[in-house]
Amino acid sequence: MHDVLSRLGLSDTNPGAWTSASPLPMRGERETLGSENPATGETLARIALATKGDLDAVIEASARAFVEWRKLPAPRRGEIVRQMAEALRAAKSDLGKLVTLEVGKIASEGQGEVQESIDIADFAVGLSRQLYGLSMHSERARHRMYEQWHPLGPVAVVTAFNFPNAVWAWNAMLALVCGDTVIWKPSLKASLTAIATHKICAEVLAKNGWDGVLGLAIGSDAEVGESLVADRRIPLVSATGSVRMGRRIGQVVSARLGRSLLELGGNNAIVVDATADLDLALRGILFGAVGTAGQRCTSTRRLFLHESIADAFTQRLVSAYEQVRIGDPMAEGTLMGPLIDADAVQMYERAIATIREQGGEILTGGTLLDRPPHPNGHYVRPTVVRARPDMPICRDETFAPILYVIPWREWDEVMAWHNDVPQGLSSALFTDSFRTAERFLSAEGSDCGIANVNIGTSGAEIGGAFGGEKETGGGREAGSDSWKNYMRRQTCTLNWSPDLPLAQGVRFDL
Ligand code: NAD
Repeated sequence: MHDVLSRLGLSDTNPGAWTSASPLPMRGERETLGSENPATGETLARIALATKGDLDAVIEASARAFVEWRKLPAPRRGEIVRQMAEALRAAKSDLGKLVTLEVGKIASEGQGEVQESIDIADFAVGLSRQLYGLSMHSERARHRMYEQWHPLGPVAVVTAFNFPNAVWAWNAMLALVCGDTVIWKPSLKASLTAIATHKICAEVLAKNGWDGVLGLAIGSDAEVGESLVADRRIPLVSATGSVRMGRRIGQVVSARLGRSLLELGGNNAIVVDATADLDLALRGILFGAVGTAGQRCTSTRRLFLHESIADAFTQRLVSAYEQVRIGDPMAEGTLMGPLIDADAVQMYERAIATIREQGGEILTGGTLLDRPPHPNGHYVRPTVVRARPDMPICRDETFAPILYVIPWREWDEVMAWHNDVPQGLSSALFTDSFRTAERFLSAEGSDCGIANVNIGTSGAEIGGAFGGEKETGGGREAGSDSWKNYMRRQTCTLNWSPDLPLAQGVRFDL
């Protein structure tokens, strides 16, 4: 077993249901699932999957803990979250390595992901003293009107494989200070990171005398996932993943009139105009399109180059792509690691075949890595395609490092192409023109939840609200006022007069 796994307290038979820092006792046989290192194909550990019955125990414990947790003043909940941030800091190096081992992100991105969790925990600590409501002037004399925010209840957090630590933290840290309890259903492709993260934070809660505030249920989508999102004890389901998953979860939750917060796929573009600083643009595009092997929701998938610079810049881009060091994600200097699994490689190969059928020209990449560092690793080459905006595949999110390059002449036309996709997550413009920048950020410009100038599409900070429009789902997480998603709003009116005047002057006297 890897040292990292033993230091994080992961044995190789980790059960899938937890309500504290220790697993729930399981009775009877359980199906097990191996967690695989995508760089080598090696099984890191096997996990006994939770059943519907195990999940029920997790939800029950969460609902029970909520009754008390909601009474703890928010700043004191914040103090416990502060301790979680400290515990995550202490474990950052190992936890970041585990992210690299389990999902194949390069080492600095693995560390960066845990840093993001620490950042949101720090943010939530401050927030715990700022869950502000408004006060209004009543139209009635000697009446006071105000809004306040209350916790919701147990919140389900369903996470994707590609941010196995931070996406949970974005949700959980806010939900905790808001007074909710949290039940995590992680991706089966990243269950070890979930167990390690859960243990670290649940241990902090246990030291403070709390049990059941954080729950973890690792099981199949059909048995555990579906039962969790359909459960009426859960007022909010926050789900991060593909549009296909969001469509399903959105329907199940809305059928019971619950709330969902959906963070789904993106199809993000960078526009480069004739005035842009091309050195800057090149770096932003490379990180956006090749970073995380193209497996970020915010990865750059389409690149619109002004025709005056398109040919020369495309050549520079292709030559930069050919210098990207692909290999063992743990090794110093590697810029791109493997895809998550064999299915992802198949999806990449299918997309390459479709690109060719639709008339796209592969300028570099388009194949598996010739000499992968390990024969069972899932390595592909990052790919640049000369494309046309009407190629249907340019409208899909292929979760792999494939970049469609399209030249443009007129601003209105490029913005129409930019916005003409079903997804609406992230977008970026490289320009040195103040007017073009403002145009891009105006209501006539990008239709995405995130719009950047002279920065690529990926690598958001936690201080802003994160999320996207259209099929990306409309949810907002992390900074700004995203915390309101985890609370219920109450409008209160107090009458301290001896009379009972009705609003709008209505009279109802006997
Ligand atoms: P996925 O949709 O396959 O799975 C996401 C999660 O949903 C997993 O935990 C999965 O087990 C669960 N799930 C799937 N069907 C379910 C069901 N019927 N009931 C309950 N749970 C169910 O996605 P993935 O392959 O893990 O991640 C990649 C996708 O996630 C990409 O589309 C990417 O753009 C998206 N993503 C979006 C964001 C964002 O913030 N917008 C962030 C990260 C990833």
